Amino acid sequence: MKHRYYIATMGCQMNEYDSDCLGQLLMNAGFVPVKNHENADFIMINTCTVRAKAQQKAFSLLGRMISLKKRKPDLILGLMGCIAQQEGSDLVKKFPELDLVLGTREIGSIPQILDRIMAGHQKVIATDLSIKRPSIDWRNDYFNGRVKGYISIMEGCNNFCSYCVVPYVRGREISRSSQEIIKEAKCLISQGIKEITLLGQNVNSYSSMEGKDVIKFPMLLKRLSSLDGLIRIRFTTSHPKDLSGDLISCFADLENLCPHIHLPFQAGSNRVLNMMNRGYTREQYLSLVRKLRNIRPDFAITSDVIVGFPGESEKDFKMTLDLIKKIEFDNLFSFKYSDRKGTVAEKLEGKIDEYEKASRLTILQSIQKEITLKKNKSYIGGLEEVLVEGESKKGGQLTGRTKTNKVVNFNCNLNKLGEVVKVIIKDAFINSLQGMQIEEQ
Ligand code: SAH
Ligand code: SF4
Repeated sequence: MKHRYYIATMGCQMNEYDSDCLGQLLMNAGFVPVKNHENADFIMINTCTVRAKAQQKAFSLLGRMISLKKRKPDLILGLMGCIAQQEGSDLVKKFPELDLVLGTREIGSIPQILDRIMAGHQKVIATDLSIKRPSIDWRNDYFNGRVKGYISIMEGCNNFCSYCVVPYVRGREISRSSQEIIKEAKCLISQGIKEITLLGQNVNSYSSMEGKDVIKFPMLLKRLSSLDGLIRIRFTTSHPKDLSGDLISCFADLENLCPHIHLPFQAGSNRVLNMMNRGYTREQYLSLVRKLRNIRPDFAITSDVIVGFPGESEKDFKMTLDLIKKIEFDNLFSFKYSDRKGTVAEKLEGKIDEYEKASRLTILQSIQKEITLKKNKSYIGGLEEVLVEGESKKGGQLTGRTKTNKVVNFNCNLNKLGEVVKVIIKDAFINSLQGMQIEEQ
């Protein structure tokens, strides 16, 4: 009988990509996926540790899987991703039910590791960060039924923002070769994928030495953009300090590069940006926004911001609010500062208490909510090209996204999955737009 696997994925898009890589390697090893974890022989939890809350969520899921293992002692239970990388063997001491701890660069070792576990039921901890992951040979039906796909183009981070654990759990930056990435893109397109999002902790610093040439991110984008059948390209995440003029020009020059960027600013005060070790000022960030909006006024800009960084004064916080009001982001992911083990900020003085952080977050979010709604309402009456992704959450309608990444729900009788449909926007809410398809001639 074939072994059955279940992967629970938490955290960012990079984790989703990693889970797919693991899934493909498990299929190659003769495993089959199951939808219900109760039916699995092998369960892997792919974890995030960027903030304390994400870590708590992962441990609570692990607790539930451990209860299942108590009822099913033959179940193989593993933990992968950023918590696995950071905690390593401590995890097995804390949770003796765990059979496997798989670090962020060890996915390629899974077949041999499972052989070892199944042969002797010994525990395996694999957390080498100095290795490069192998490229995955995707099965020719792995992505069937999906419209959007991800490709990791680089991993790791060399930036060491003072609050962030990512450089410690994802290692130093390594870029994949452009040939590997193009091969993977062609494979996805041949399976019906219409939109590819290129992933990396800091895609702007993509750099691959190929023969005598160094391929930088704008060149990679140009090569991918010319692939037949690729309707849309996106990328995430960009670091403001590495957003070059060449890259900004790509948005004007490449037809299928979507006019949306996720460009985390983190704080609006230069004093805090400096303490965060971000490497740019508020003025430089504003200048980037102006350049992007010069390409087209409706260029969508989303961002991340942290409130309550150690030492953030009331005045610093007001500077953050001021920047948000000036820029009017399309959407904003906002977080309370969270102490992470081993980071520089963990050791800083002037920690802000939880109550104050929560209060700053509420103020910030209520301001952004109005801005998001105003932005969305500005779409009413306009004509948008929507790439159809499937049925809407509530059912009965189709759902898709504009080039600027806004969710649009609309009535449509025909199955238009994977097609670009012209839609008039009739109404707008905080998380989505309501549209009506224009009748085809
Ligand atoms: N590589 C990306 C971000 C990765 S982490 C970048 O540089 O933009 C995703 C977001 O989590 C960050 O942008 C930041 O806003 C938030 N974050 C990271 N560490 C955090 C911490 N210790 N406390 C609160 N938020 C944090
Ligand atoms: Fe973390 Fe900064 Fe690297 Fe982003 S750029 S992953 S925030 S250290």
